[in-house]
Amino acid sequence: MLKKTEDLYLSIDKIDAHIHQNSRRTALLEEAEKEGFRLVTINTEVPDFPPTDDQREIALACDAELPGILSFMATFSTEDWGEPDWHIKALAQIQTGIKNGAVSVKIWKNFGMDLRDSNGDFVMADHPSLNPIYETLEKNGITLIAHIGEPKNCWLPIEEMTVNGDRDYFSKNPRYHMYLHKEYPSYEEHLQARDRFLKKFKNLTFVGAHLASHEWSVEKVAEWLDTFPNAGVDLAERVCHLQFQAAGNQPKVKAFVEKYQDRIIYGTDQIDDGTLEDNDLRATIRKKWHEEFQFFAEDSEQSSKQVDKPFRGLGLDKSVLTKIFCSNALRYYPKIDK
Ligand SMILES: [Zn+2]
Repeated sequence: MLKKTEDLYLSIDKIDAHIHQNSRRTALLEEAEKEGFRLVTINTEVPDFPPTDDQREIALACDAELPGILSFMATFSTEDWGEPDWHIKALAQIQTGIKNGAVSVKIWKNFGMDLRDSNGDFVMADHPSLNPIYETLEKNGITLIAHIGEPKNCWLPIEEMTVNGDRDYFSKNPRYHMYLHKEYPSYEEHLQARDRFLKKFKNLTFVGAHLASHEWSVEKVAEWLDTFPNAGVDLAERVCHLQFQAAGNQPKVKAFVEKYQDRIIYGTDQIDDGTLEDNDLRATIRKKWHEEFQFFAEDSEQSSKQVDKPFRGLGLDKSVLTKIFCSNALRYYPKIDK
């Protein structure tokens, strides 16, 4: 990173609005404080994460230990899904999150990719059982963030995938590689289910995590943002897809980010599950923050281990960087500034 970029990096307040703080140590928070970041950990019902209530308690404990850095997003468990009072339990869990300061509520891809009804059919994101949740969030002005579906690469053979992280992940995790599982809903079916409920709950403030799963095409993200004026997108673990597209056509990616500069939220998807040594964890997140900031801020030739070809950074103005790295997160999740 050029000295000029580094000065810019240090001069602006930043928010990494998509991490997973699943351990009680505060190494990530300490590193964030040094680098001028605040963090938002997203409670998510991932099978190898701690139970969702524990994730909330971890977030609160870390915030108590080093105040002012970490916020959290609440979620709800699908454990008793299908029972007549499931939505009451889910809403109570959301309520506990909100009472404790949650800045948003998350729904995850287990809707569509894992949870099934008593007939064995997948429960998609527009399933009527979710309506009371969407209604409540809409009525109370609480932002919903959704990770629905997967990168399009998940439905492609390994050799056709665009970025190395996906190639690596899906070759090691064939059970999640949808190209091999034609019995699961298609890429399009997931996104159509999400868009159906968004059309129904028009006033819901919504963030499509991971570039709303349209990461492979800035034109598609643009089209989706035009369809849903209340929606924003986050960049978590998908900056590489912008870099991949910049390798082919940097002006197109730059024009996209500039046009939608009020609706793009920075995040890394960094997980702290306690497995990395403190110093390795700090180095990992610092490298990610620096390299990704450099991509948005600096108009130079750059490279990433994710993308096989070099690409040119976007060289965005400070005013745009401030929005992507901070003020958009505050607008979609105002309780960060509690
Ligand atoms: Zn995540």
